[in-house]
Order: sequence, then structure tokens, then C-alpha cells
Amino acid sequence: MHVSFNIGVLISLITSATATAMPYGIGCVTDIDTNGSVGVGDVLTIIDSWGTANAEADCNGDGIVGVGDLLMLIDEWGVDCEAIHPFTDDTAVSFDYPGGFVVVMTSGIPDHPTGPFDGSTGCNNPNSVTDQNRTIYIPMVPTPTNNPAIEYLDQPGPLSVSTNGVAMYNPYDAGGVDAPSSICFDEYNGHPSADGSYHYHQWSPALDAMEADGHSGVIGYSFDGYPIFGPWESDNVDAHNGVVNPLDDCHGHTDAIRGYHYHASLPYSEDPNGFPWIMGCYHGEPEIANFDTGGGGGGCDGCAQLMIPPPICNCVHNAPGYEYCCMNWDSACQTYAEQFCGAGFAPPEEPSNRFPNNRPPVKRPPPGR
Ligand SMILES: [Zn+2]
Ligand SMILES: [Zn+2]
Repeated sequence: MHVSFNIGVLISLITSATATAMPYGIGCVTDIDTNGSVGVGDVLTIIDSWGTANAEADCNGDGIVGVGDLLMLIDEWGVDCEAIHPFTDDTAVSFDYPGGFVVVMTSGIPDHPTGPFDGSTGCNNPNSVTDQNRTIYIPMVPTPTNNPAIEYLDQPGPLSVSTNGVAMYNPYDAGGVDAPSSICFDEYNGHPSADGSYHYHQWSPALDAMEADGHSGVIGYSFDGYPIFGPWESDNVDAHNGVVNPLDDCHGHTDAIRGYHYHASLPYSEDPNGFPWIMGCYHGEPEIANFDTGGGGGGCDGCAQLMIPPPICNCVHNAPGYEYCCMNWDSACQTYAEQFCGAGFAPPEEPSNRFPNNRPPVKRPPPGR
């Protein structure tokens, strides 16, 4: 049987496809035609772009398509690109190329123990951990923006997903308090909310991956498609306090290997100045389908949605005449807050249950390596 096809048409089809740089740590770098494997179509694109700056085919990002890109391609030849990702086995990862998403299905229940939250180790939490049955869409191509569709620090619920499927939330818990400095967690820095959603507000010792150059490994992905790494920028340098390549307001920065990426801080127990702990804003446009568009609870949860950081404020700051409560908490602020948040509401900066004496120590990743 004689098979013939028009190379020119094929190449134009390939090169007109949307350039799809998979999020760092996911998929093959040289799967240019995004069909899940590295093959002839990808070679043709590189050859067709040889010597040019075609970004699609410039897989190693050195500004010109050439031998380096071909060597990368040979390295990935025959690899199952859809098997390359850091998510653990209790998640299901698939690739929606036409939609431009990596799709993660997860219960949200971690592959490590949770709790106890009965007070036996000093942490009381009335909620239990339940299956959240989540489908999360991670954009394959992040869209940088200065005005993302979702205001990160106002948004309740999951805002990014850990490689073990656990949701990561913004710094605030119900009532508008900074969770890492105010709320107790289990030894993995997680706790369940009223809807049974186990989540992290800060780096978890369950997420201690490291890369060969001393940079932390990927611990999760933001709903805007950018990867999130652990605390370390290099040997003995945590990114939050780094001066060479400091983090921006969103708690991210760019390097030549990883592109734009976020860093989680060291946990509160190791550095109390790590706010915003995981992220401070979205650098890119988050995928709206990931957000719970339900009404939310009002009350303290409603307050938490209206907060501004830092310093940690609560709902009161939005009430005319109470703006000063952001800076100077007094009995009037307390009285007003208790209308919404209940008697005994803990004001900002006065955490009531910080770290019980018998709380297990947080494990720390080895510096470097
Ligand atoms: Zn929480
Ligand atoms: Zn970094």
C-alpha cells in the first residue's frame, strides 16, 4: 500500500497549532504537537524551524532552534509524556489538549495520616476529613496578568492543588485570621474545614521534594497553571528571604530553568515571617471552573472573603468608622466583630491556640540536596 501525504500541509498544521508549553514537571518538553508522545511530527517542526527563533520549536529556550532542541527530543523519544508529572498515585491525571488543561481528579484526602483533631495532641477541630471528589483544571499555558479574574486573598476554598491532591488555601481561615499563626494543624500542617475539606495554608512536611541544584521540588500547581515549589531556592537559602532573586507580591519569581514559579515559605513554626505562606496573588489568569461558585456561608466565612492583607484584618475594616481596626484593634472592634463572628472571636495578632506544647515538631527538609 502506498501512503503519501503532503509534508508542507502537515508542517503548516503542526506549526499553526497553539504553542503548548506544559507546566514545569508535567509532560514532555519536546511534545510540540501535543499528542502525548514525542515523534515524527515534533522532529519535522524542529527541522522546519531550524535556525529560527520559533518559540514552539525552541524547546530548550536558548533563543534559536538547533542541535540542543534535537538532543532534547532524542532524549524524550518514545517516552509516555502523559506519565511525566509529580502527582501521587491517589490522583488521576489526564490531558485535555484541545481544552489546554491538565486535568487532576482527586478526593482531596492525602496519602499521609491526618489528625488527630480530638485534642489528644493539643489540636481541637470538630470537622472530619471527607472525600471532596474534585476535578481540577490546570492550564497548560499560563496567561500572565496584572488583573486576574479571581482575587486570591479574597477567595475561600481551594486555590491550588498539592502533588498529593490536597487543596491549598490562602493564608486566612474563617473569621479572617492568619491561619498559620493562629490555628492548630496536624503534624502535616493540614486541617479540615466544616465541609470536610482537608487543606494546607502553608508548606507541609509531606511535600519535601528537592531538585539536584538545591532548589526545592514541585509541591503543587496553582489554578493559573504555574508550579509551586517548596521553601528552598538553593542550598541554605529560602526563597522567601532570598535577595538575589527576590519573590514578588504573588510570592513567585522567574528563573531560566523553571520559568515563573511560586515558592511556599518555611512553616510558621520555623519562620514566623513567612506570610503569605504559599501565594499572595495569582500571577496568571486562574481557571474559573476550579472555583466553588456556591453562595458561601456568610458570617465569618463572608468576612474572610472581604479581608485585605497584611497586617491581618477581618471583616471589620470594611465597616465605615472601623477602618482603623486593621491597625489598632480595640474593644469597639471586638464588639463589632462579635456581631458577625460570634462571642470570643479571636482578633488578629492575638492567636488563642498557637502551638500546643505537645504538638509534634514539624520536620524540616534538609537544606540543599
Ligand atoms: Zn483552614
Ligand atoms: Zn525559585
